[in-house]
Amino acid sequence: MITGATRVAGVIGEPVRHSLSPRLHNAAYRALGLDWVFVAFEVPTGGTSAALDAARVFGFVGLAVTMPHKTTMATLCDALSPAAAALRSVNTVTVASGGRTTGESTDGDGFLRSLADADVDVAGRDALVLGAGGAARAVARALAGRGARVEVAARRTTAAAEAAALAQGTTIDWRDRAAAASAADIVVNATPVGMAGDVSLPLPEQALGPGRVVVELVYEPIETPLLAAARTRGAQTVSGLGMLVHQAALQVELWSGQAAPIDAMRAAVTQR
Ligand code: NAP
Repeated sequence: MITGATRVAGVIGEPVRHSLSPRLHNAAYRALGLDWVFVAFEVPTGGTSAALDAARVFGFVGLAVTMPHKTTMATLCDALSPAAAALRSVNTVTVASGGRTTGESTDGDGFLRSLADADVDVAGRDALVLGAGGAARAVARALAGRGARVEVAARRTTAAAEAAALAQGTTIDWRDRAAAASAADIVVNATPVGMAGDVSLPLPEQALGPGRVVVELVYEPIETPLLAAARTRGAQTVSGLGMLVHQAALQVELWSGQAAPIDAMRAAVTQR
């Protein structure tokens, strides 16, 4: 029951109607018994600052932030976490009672938690990250923070170098990614290849044999062509669902100070 005491949190983005954040968050609030509600707000480019002011004025618990606002939001928050500052990207804003805002990026830690769920230890291992966008940057930095050696392969060499620099890593020419994957312990797809009906693979399946972990960031579908091919060839696989759930769980924990109800959140996006 929404009452006068109910508090609001939300996600801003454009497009945002497809977002799974309302499902994840509202399931968490229900399971934790919080009198909070989470809503999606379609906010166009240029509206970031006004949305942040609104969150302050309305006393929101916080904001989840998605495209196209992540970079601009990093310039607007009163304080940034080390991850948000390094990535110059914010996917989570916490609004304190006086209106002070702190920006965080939960993608990297969400990714690490999904690997921990799958018993994948990254320390001292060779990781190849495909792609150099926002998710790839967060993942590369997170892997290096846990002691992995990171290589980044992407179509744009400048973007690849920037992502690799966040991980004190190196770049691989995009055309050489299959050989690099064959030599890696962990291969992460941080491109949208394989998403929603796209049957292509981000690299030739010959590179996906046993002895390595293939990690997908795409979560729609949960079983992508890459994961299916990797499993068939004997690799360990990790889907993008865990990172999706854990990056939202970290938002819930930042805002509520309570451990997130992971099972309820996972069920909210798998039982659709
Ligand atoms: P982004 O900033 O747009 O970056 C996409 C990256 O993929 C860029 O390096 C881009 O290269 C590359 N790319 C795009 N199409 C490609 C293609 N056909 N072949 C090779 N490279 C291609 O996107 P993002 O925010 O990093 O997200 C990347 C993927 O991760 C998306 O599918 C997103 O849904 C997923 N994701 C999942 C989670 C999760 O919680 N599971 C979290 C964040 C993101 P160019 O610059 O050359 O285009």
